[in-house]
Amino acid sequence: MNSIDLPSLAQALADSTPTIRHDWTREEAAAIYHAPFADLIFRAQTIHRQSFDANAVQCNQLLNVKTGGCAEDCGYCSQSSHHDTALPASKLMDPAKVIEGAKAARDAGATRYCMGAAWRSPKDRDMAPVIEMVKGVKALGMEACMTLGMLTDDQAKQLADAGLDYYNHNIDTSEGFYSSVVKTRSFGDRLETLEKVQDAGIKVCCGGILGLGEKPTDRVEMLRTLANLPQHPESVPINMLIPIEGTPIAATATPVDPFEFVRTIALARIMMPKSDVRLAAGRTAMSDEMQALCFLAGANSIFIGDTLLTTPNPGDSKDRALFARLGITPRDDLGVHAHGNA
Ligand code: SF4
Repeated sequence: MNSIDLPSLAQALADSTPTIRHDWTREEAAAIYHAPFADLIFRAQTIHRQSFDANAVQCNQLLNVKTGGCAEDCGYCSQSSHHDTALPASKLMDPAKVIEGAKAARDAGATRYCMGAAWRSPKDRDMAPVIEMVKGVKALGMEACMTLGMLTDDQAKQLADAGLDYYNHNIDTSEGFYSSVVKTRSFGDRLETLEKVQDAGIKVCCGGILGLGEKPTDRVEMLRTLANLPQHPESVPINMLIPIEGTPIAATATPVDPFEFVRTIALARIMMPKSDVRLAAGRTAMSDEMQALCFLAGANSIFIGDTLLTTPNPGDSKDRALFARLGITPRDDLGVHAHGNA
C-alpha cells in the first residue's frame, strides 16, 4: 500500500514538534480521555505522526526465563505462589537456550528481546546468568529488555554495565486502586525501582493492565503517574486482562469496553508523545478492527510470537496478515530487516 497525501492542515499539524510535559493535571487528563471519540483519535494520531512513522510498528518477543513460584501476590498473575493456578514453577533457564530463542525471534522479525523472571527481586547469585543472557542478546544485534522484579542500585548498575537497553516494571493501575490488585508490595516500591533503573541509565518499559475491575479514573491516573515522572518511560505497554482460572482477579474481573481501551491508548500517546505505546497482552481477545483502532490511536508496538509469559498471543501468521491488511510494516530499529516479516 502507498501512503496518500494528507490534507495540508493535518500535514502541518503532524509536522510540528510535540510538547513534552510532566505536569498533567487530573482534570486535563480526564478531559482528554472522555473527549468525543473522533476528536480524541484525531489528536492522538496527529501527535503520533509528529514523532513516528504512522505505518510502522515495533516488534518485540517475550520469553519467560523463570516461570512460576513468585513470592508476590499480584491478583491477576498465574505465576504467583499465592494462587492455585496449576502452573509448575521452573528454575532459571540456561542462558545458552535463551540466546538460541533470541536468535530465532530476530530471524522472525523481532528487534527487541524481552526476558521475564517470576521473582520478587533477583538474588545476587542470579545476576551472573542474567547478565550472560543480556550480553548474548546484545551480541545478536538486538535490544535487550528484562523484567526481574525489584532491584537494588547495584543490580541496576550491573544490568546497565552489561548493556541492558530496557527494564520492564509495570505499575499496573492507579495508586488508589493498587492495593486491590497487589498486597505484597506498594505502589511506592514500584516507583522506587523505576527511579533506580532510570538513574542507572537504563530505559524504562512501564505500563499497566485494563480489566482488573478498575474505574476509568484509575486508568487516567495510572497514565498520569507515568506522564508526570521526571522522564517518560520509553515504552508504555497497555495490557488487556486475560483472566486466568485460580487467580483472585479472574473471579471479579470486568471486561473492558473496547472503546475505553482505545481511549486509554490515545491518552498514553497524547501525554507521552515520544514513547512507544505497546498493545501488549490480550490481543487474542481483540478483533482486528479493535487492534486497527489502537494503532490509529497511537499504539506502535506489539509482542510477536504465539505466547507471552504464560498466556497466548496471536502468532506470527495472524500478525503478518493483519499488518498486510493495514499496510503496516515492522519498524526496523536495528537496520537488519529489509522488509517486514513479523
Ligand atoms: S506479575 Fe510478576 S511479580 Fe507479580 S506475581 Fe506475577 S511474576 Fe510475580
